Amino acid sequence: MNGNNKSIIIIGGGLAGLSAGCYALMNGYDVQVFEHAAIPGGVCTSWKTDNYMIDGCIHWLMGHRPGTSVYEVYRELGITDAAKFLDAGSYINFVDGRTGNQFELIADYEKTRDRLIAISPADKNTIEKFLRASVVMADLQIPTGGSSWKKGAIKNLWDKLTGLWRMGRMLGYLFRYNLPLNEYVKRIKNPWVRDIIVNLFLQDMTTLFSMLMIGYLFRNQLGMVEGGSIRFVLPIEKRLKKLGGRITYNATVEKVLVENGAAVGVKLADGSVHRSDIVISAADLHSTLYDMLDGKYVPERFRYMFGNWKMFSPLMLVSFGVKGEIKRYPPVNVIFLKEPFKIGTVTVDRLLVRDYSYDKAMNPGDRTVIQAEIETEYDYWMGLRKNEEAYYKEKDAVAHKVLDRIEDFYPGIKAKVEMIDVATPYTFLRYTRNYRSAFEGWLMTGETIKMSVPKILDGLKNFYLAGQWVEPGGGVPTAVASGRRVIRKLCRDDKKEFITKLP
Ligand SMILES: Cc1cc2nc3c(=O)[nH]c(=O)nc-3n(C[C@H](O)[C@H](O)[C@H](O)COP(=O)(O)OP(=O)(O)OC[C@H]3O[C@@H](n4cnc5c(N)ncnc54)[C@H](O)[C@@H]3O)c2cc1C
Repeated sequence: MNGNNKSIIIIGGGLAGLSAGCYALMNGYDVQVFEHAAIPGGVCTSWKTDNYMIDGCIHWLMGHRPGTSVYEVYRELGITDAAKFLDAGSYINFVDGRTGNQFELIADYEKTRDRLIAISPADKNTIEKFLRASVVMADLQIPTGGSSWKKGAIKNLWDKLTGLWRMGRMLGYLFRYNLPLNEYVKRIKNPWVRDIIVNLFLQDMTTLFSMLMIGYLFRNQLGMVEGGSIRFVLPIEKRLKKLGGRITYNATVEKVLVENGAAVGVKLADGSVHRSDIVISAADLHSTLYDMLDGKYVPERFRYMFGNWKMFSPLMLVSFGVKGEIKRYPPVNVIFLKEPFKIGTVTVDRLLVRDYSYDKAMNPGDRTVIQAEIETEYDYWMGLRKNEEAYYKEKDAVAHKVLDRIEDFYPGIKAKVEMIDVATPYTFLRYTRNYRSAFEGWLMTGETIKMSVPKILDGLKNFYLAGQWVEPGGGVPTAVASGRRVIRKLCRDDKKEFITKLP
């Protein structure tokens, strides 16, 4: 215990839970984190299969260089001292197997503009407007909850993306571009340019989000983590422990204990009871509300969200461990397939392919991992899982369909594959418990961008929410910032000054 200070139990040792733990400790609270999995990080993770290091998360880290609000959070959490960030340099390399077209969207604004206009002079006006707006959007800062940071290269603090709404200079863009990407692209005449823009991020997300990503790319504020996502996570766990916090793994919270309208602790799946002054859930929102709290404290806003908002589609990650030389591609590629295939009822006509050949810290020597990320159906995989044999058979079948398709782009790869690892929505659910395997929570849409999500529950004192499920759009920076912000709010409620410390 930290003297007579209040104790906090944090449910979930993903990025938001770890971050909340660190800031709570900086502010004198006693912290115990309970994490369902055997390691920290939640969906932000890397793992080894047959001696190949596979990554399951970060390909675009926003604000990896000094001059952004969130970089200061990375510093405060001890990440910048321990992890090595690489500039992304390239956002996506688009390869069209149907036509042979290829276009790499790189961090160079002028080159990107000129190359796109060269593809379609008729779209010059639209291309210029889109790219210009993207650069302006990059003035926005991840909301970190007020600051110990000083204004740097990027000017305005954004008090969450909804704060955008209030910023005069952004208003024009907000009205003009707060529409789904797949609606926005209807104004683009050239089909190849349209294919590129509509695949910058998820097609149902607001166009503003893609602009933000591209804007950060052009400002050289989009990075990667050398050695894989786990190297982003472990320094935060270390910081938590060094500050005096405790984290217990394989510890699944079953119930939040409530007495006299206040949270007083948790009960774990092993039956043990742990008491605290405050409980913060940085875990999946649906199970927090409906299982851990038995559906007794569900604000109307949350009911509406679960009934109406779109979630991120579940993913499959199909990873191939390759030994020997193969053709090299940029880190992130979108490949349009000549021969689409089906998984359940969904036709897969393009693959997001991550090529890890740039990172020898993950797999040294002549070994590398090529990974396909595919949106898929939750119910299909959960149904299959009821029959173990059918489930593994389908996993294997999908892996071979993917391998057949990428052979066209990586000639000879098939003969060099010595490891195949397939993660399905069931895998995501088993390890992270995210509702319907929505790995990043709610999509950032025209509606969700404008609405604020409650972080406390009416009728339940001493209980707070953090993490991607209360920050539409999710993401690594948002999760760590969410942990910071919840502790800032707690300090305010406790009438304490919120303080931060560097390691
Ligand atoms: C394939 C992939 C690629 C991604 N790429 C990027 C990227 O390039 N850039 C980016 O910014 N973001 C990316 N993201 C998103 C980002 O990783 C997440 O939004 C962020 O890590 C979410 O953190 P979180 O702590 O809010 O949630 P989670 O990671 O879900 O953490 C919640 C934790 O709570 C635990 N938990 C759940 N229930 C219980 C319980 N009952 N008891 C105890 N513990 C419990 C879970 O095990 C988990 O560890 C990606 C995600 C994936 C899956």
